[in-house]
Amino acid sequence: MSHDRFVTRHIGPREDEIQEMLKAIGVSSMEELIAQTVPDDIRLKEPLKLKEGLTERRYYRRILSLADKNKVFNTYIGMGYYDTITPAVILRNVLENPVWYTSYTPYQAEISQGRLEALLNFQTMVCELTAMEVGNASLLDEATAAAEAMIMMFNMRTRQMVKAGVNVLLVDEKIWPQTLDVLKTRSNPLGIELKVQSKDSFDFSDNVFGAVVQYPNSDGEIIDYASLVNSAHDNGVKVAVAADLLSLALLTPPGEWGADIVFGSSQRFGIPMGYGGPHAAFFAAREEYKRHMPGRIIGITKDMHGNRALRMALQTREQHIKRDKATSNLCTAQALLATMAGFFGVYHGAGGIKTIARRIHNIAAFLAEEIEKLGYKQLNHNFFDTLRFSLPKHVKREDIEWLSLELEMNFRYFENGDVGISIDETTNREDMTWILEVFAKAANNSWSVIHEYPKGYEIDPKFARQSKFMTQDVFESYRSETEMVRYIKRLEHKDISLTQSMISLGSCTMKLTAATEMLPLSWIKFNGIHPFVPKNQAMGYHEMMEELRRDLAEITGMADVSVMPNSGAAGEYAGLMVIREYHRNRGELQRNVVLIPSSSHGTNPASAVMAGLKIVVVDCDDRGNVDLEDLRKKAELNKETLAALMVTYPSTHGVFESSIVEMCRIIHENGGQVYMDGANMNAQVGLTSPGKIGADVCHLNLHKTFAIPHGGGGPGVGPIAVAAHLVKFLPSHPIMNNGHIGITAVSAAPWGSASVLPITYGYIKMMGAEGLTKATEVAILNANYIAKALEKNYGIVYTGENGRVGHELILECRHFKASSGVTEEDISKRLMDFGFHAPTLSFPVHGTLMVEPTESESKQELDRFISALNVIYDEIKEVENGEADKSDNVLKNSPHTAEQVTSDNWTHAYPRQKAAWPVAWLRENKFWVPVGRVDNAWGDRNLICTCGSPKEYELIGE
Ligand SMILES: *Cc1c(COP(=O)(O)O)cnc(C)c1O
Repeated sequence: MSHDRFVTRHIGPREDEIQEMLKAIGVSSMEELIAQTVPDDIRLKEPLKLKEGLTERRYYRRILSLADKNKVFNTYIGMGYYDTITPAVILRNVLENPVWYTSYTPYQAEISQGRLEALLNFQTMVCELTAMEVGNASLLDEATAAAEAMIMMFNMRTRQMVKAGVNVLLVDEKIWPQTLDVLKTRSNPLGIELKVQSKDSFDFSDNVFGAVVQYPNSDGEIIDYASLVNSAHDNGVKVAVAADLLSLALLTPPGEWGADIVFGSSQRFGIPMGYGGPHAAFFAAREEYKRHMPGRIIGITKDMHGNRALRMALQTREQHIKRDKATSNLCTAQALLATMAGFFGVYHGAGGIKTIARRIHNIAAFLAEEIEKLGYKQLNHNFFDTLRFSLPKHVKREDIEWLSLELEMNFRYFENGDVGISIDETTNREDMTWILEVFAKAANNSWSVIHEYPKGYEIDPKFARQSKFMTQDVFESYRSETEMVRYIKRLEHKDISLTQSMISLGSCTMKLTAATEMLPLSWIKFNGIHPFVPKNQAMGYHEMMEELRRDLAEITGMADVSVMPNSGAAGEYAGLMVIREYHRNRGELQRNVVLIPSSSHGTNPASAVMAGLKIVVVDCDDRGNVDLEDLRKKAELNKETLAALMVTYPSTHGVFESSIVEMCRIIHENGGQVYMDGANMNAQVGLTSPGKIGADVCHLNLHKTFAIPHGGGGPGVGPIAVAAHLVKFLPSHPIMNNGHIGITAVSAAPWGSASVLPITYGYIKMMGAEGLTKATEVAILNANYIAKALEKNYGIVYTGENGRVGHELILECRHFKASSGVTEEDISKRLMDFGFHAPTLSFPVHGTLMVEPTESESKQELDRFISALNVIYDEIKEVENGEADKSDNVLKNSPHTAEQVTSDNWTHAYPRQKAAWPVAWLRENKFWVPVGRVDNAWGDRNLICTCGSPKEYELIGE
């Protein structure tokens, strides 16, 4: 065996420890454990047909050779994607820094203050640029943000409008084609009628609830929408505006001319194009709509000591994922990219951003003049960065095309033969000369070399922004790289990530993202490519994605895969829409009922609602299994209208239900399709598969099972894998042929978040069939090892027929409340004093903690975690038997800040040592929380979701 096998680096426990652990749980071999855990009838009989795992070095060579097959041209296509300069200080200290990319969504606020502040910066920047009052901390992309805006406006209809059946959304024809395509997908199942037309013919009186326009529009023209917005409002119609965030540095922001919602992409704020993603979409609205906003909103509140603290606001409504009353299914978003875009704003400040925008506008305006001199006609009267040219009669579009390709440039080609160019932050003098050269040569004309940057071109005062923006201190203070790196580090030190300790979040699979897997993300040959370039410029991508598709199909036992969805929930939605299309294609339009077990993740019913399906809940029995008789009864009762079953396997309770094959059979017999939520795929890979079990569709969370990191709440990738009869319904794309011909698009980009796919690709290539299977086995071993160690003190809520758990386990905590007043939340907060992130809190069973260690955690780390929970158990006992005070104890007051335990005024009934140093091993690795327990309710009563506002100082004090 080679010393540099990747598997041994990815997997935590050593071989001898694995033997020890097997012994501890009372089995003699791994095979015995797996046999006790995974039902025999669904076990794969053959190993996965994947190549042998590569060493890290060999994989590096492989991915480098793929990178070489991609070509990085200067791309002026625009259409929502622009080249940009990622400041190296952000690239190195955020994107390439595991503290930022391996942290979890900031549900546990006290150990997430750094990323919460970074996201608050993003929200503040967005609110400032758009002149709106409330922003969220990112959506998946511009096109899905448009869909969220549409749905939000639909849900805000007055009772009268609902009664009258008002259901029309007016969409200006001059929005990005990909935005329009996603609006088509998302509107249809909800009974929303899209009327796509010129904004000049909008009739707001005709059954209309909302309108969507783009600013500047898809031609690049800046439109004055003020009167349009006024007449919309006069008719009770809301207006959502897709905006180019960078243009708003120069243009009157939509908030100042009455927009109700402003959304778009923040990609140009330092996030590489990445062949389509990931990028953070922004979404901002008026204050009065805050309770209708989708996504996560970061807000300011106080901690238990009265100090300023941040946390996710309005969380109790769980970001609109309210099961069958859901108004959005958004869960994983684009936190890491929003963090980076926010830092871009911090580093440049308003001045820098204005300079970038002005420079772009000057270049565009100058080129417009110069190219007009060559005989072309520039059609945009007012523009920011984008020009549209009609060609003189003697110029052939093909000539422009090949001349530009010759000089390694991509332009945009309109259907009518016009040519478009969008200037970006990176465009320089040589680029300008080359652009001129192409237009000149095509027109048999001459050109001259440009020696100076153009200046002095102004936006027409009619459109020019007068108001100041981003005046908050944070956007004024970090101009030098030294200051910037210290600011990033300061925030970083406030957060727990996988670099600190294990993050045992059940259902979230916080496993290792290996450094080798991350390297290609920083390479221009992967991240510098626009998603709409000719495919022959992205051959490395396509070779990689073809292999990945085949490998994921093999792993899931399915026929084909679409990588388009940008999150697990987006995959759920896409999968359900594929099923819906399948039924419709067979003439069974009435099939609209989806069965969902009561234990399901909230996004399942939320996605079903978004797909226009009717939810019928299936009960679970006392052992946490789906009640088979109830399932049968409900499937038969809805025989004529059954569309699908949505089921998670192993169940969200962490158990391999032995009746899964029977469940699938019942659904199929009654005309339905089986959708499998693949969030728990880490318990299946190599041992069983959705195809083997009988599912027709499943999504995978590449950011769980397949090593893409969580990024503090995204990016994610949620590909769907489907059986052969569903392949022809996989989502297509309006601009690029993405290999599928089915439903309209579910994401803006043809291959979703393509630039993070090398992470999963690398994971699979380096693990190989054997390594992947071993990872699953060790994940199950690690979970069972913890279960065994904690079952006495806590109790394990559900186990399988042989008393085993799958890859995760639910710790019973409910009985402590009656005996001691200690809740699952107290345990979570106390774990922070031990340097641990809490397990999943109260999901899927209220009052419990769900632990998923993953295969990447070593035995030492599992033992540390176990010892922490056992010490906490002793602390609960002390409260129970009266040794500790009921309210003034280490649990209720946790987590303890350094300020608190070093205070000259220590008033608690227990010693400081006990508060801060409950176990000896903490001396090696103490994490000090920057704030005490946060007050969620206070923050929700006083919602503040931008920084540095007068309101903040009034409430919190300076
Ligand atoms: C994480 C998860 C989802 C949602 O995935 P996102 O990528 O966050 O949208 C759905 N179902 C289950 C069981 C999950 O654990």
